[in-house]
Amino acid sequence: MTLFEKIIAREIPAQIVHEDGQCLAFRDISPQAPVHILVVPKKPVPRVAAAEGADEPLLGHLLVVAAEIAKKEGIAESGFRVVVNNGPHGGETVPHLHVHLLGGRPMHWPPG
Ligand code: AMP
Repeated sequence: MTLFEKIIAREIPAQIVHEDGQCLAFRDISPQAPVHILVVPKKPVPRVAAAEGADEPLLGHLLVVAAEIAKKEGIAESGFRVVVNNGPHGGETVPHLHVHLLGGRPMHWPPG
C-alpha cells in the first residue's frame, strides 16, 4: 500500500478536508504555503505519466475538486497554484498521483 492509500484507509491520520467516491483531500504534513492541500485519487494511479485513457474523467475530477476546495479555503479570488510532480526530476516523492493545491501567498515563476 502507498502512504496515501494508508491515509485513505484511515490507517495513518490526516487532516481531511474533502472526501467523495473518487478522491480524498487532506492538508500536507509539510505545508509550503498557508494553504497546502493534497487531492488524491482513491485509485492508486502512481503518477500522471502512468494514467490511462480510462483515467481521464478522474484526472479532471481532481482539478474540479481542487478548485472547489480553493473556494472553501478562501483563496479562489487571490489565486492559487495546482502542481503535479512526476518522477525524479519533477520532485515526486510519493508514488501515488496527487494534486498539490497551494495558496494564501504569492507564488513565484519559474518554479525551482
Ligand atoms: P510529492 O513530492 O509531489 O510526491 O508530494 C508528496 C507530498 O506528501 C509532500 O508535499 C509531503 O509533505 C506530503 N506528505 C508526506 N507524508 C504525508 C502525510 N503523512 N500526510 C500529509 N502529507 C504528507
